[in-house]
Amino acid sequence: MLRPGLVDAHCHLGDAAFDPDRDAVLGRARDAGIEHVVVIGGTLAESERAVALARAYPGLSATVGIHPHDARQWSAAADARLRDLLGLPEVVAVGETGLDYHYDHSPREAQRRAFEAQLALAAEFRMPVVVHAREADEDLAAMLVGVAATVVLHSFSAGGAVFEAGMAIGAYFSFSGMITFKNWTPTVPLAAYPPNRLLIETDGPYLAPVPYRGKRNEPAFVRAVAEGLARARGEAMDSIGQRTSENARRVFGARLATTL
Ligand SMILES: [Zn+2]
Repeated sequence: MLRPGLVDAHCHLGDAAFDPDRDAVLGRARDAGIEHVVVIGGTLAESERAVALARAYPGLSATVGIHPHDARQWSAAADARLRDLLGLPEVVAVGETGLDYHYDHSPREAQRRAFEAQLALAAEFRMPVVVHAREADEDLAAMLVGVAATVVLHSFSAGGAVFEAGMAIGAYFSFSGMITFKNWTPTVPLAAYPPNRLLIETDGPYLAPVPYRGKRNEPAFVRAVAEGLARARGEAMDSIGQRTSENARRVFGARLATTL
């Protein structure tokens, strides 16, 4: 059966949860028709692991950045290390960065400083930037105004203000398994998002979609996210698959053409 290959636009494949069976995970992804996985860096260590994985396996790319949870680690040395990593051919984006006022693992001021600096890095290196937004709508929307890099709003579930701010700068909206949860209530209906700005992701090992909820999430499950998005938009699965893969190649670049 010929079906369009899918791209998992956000997976923490370097996470220790995948250490016992990473090869098998990638094998299942291939069998499920997943062509490419964007491996996320949220700390310096995780960024280095993402690069190493992308170097070791075809069909993987890396992002490098400091997650808002770890924003207190932002420093001139961290900035310099990210600059080194951004020069590598495996790296396709800055991030994961952003604001998370739900957990507040790092002080909000530190989160804003690290986010601002990574937005600037993305603009300087002409790379997209992967953004995490949780319960920080007002500040996040304000900080997106005039951003000079292409923004990917990942595991998107923010409210209307962030949606509008994203639309104003041509951001991409990446949806995770959350859209398949029974209690998920979108502020903006999924049908309202522009087709050329849609991405799908697992955010593995977290947020496994229905019917895998509660399990470790892995790239093969991005098919269930695509099915949820197709259902919610009243679109054919093939068209969602093709669109989201085209969008991923447009935003993350030529390296996305390599396949698992
Ligand atoms: Zn993430």
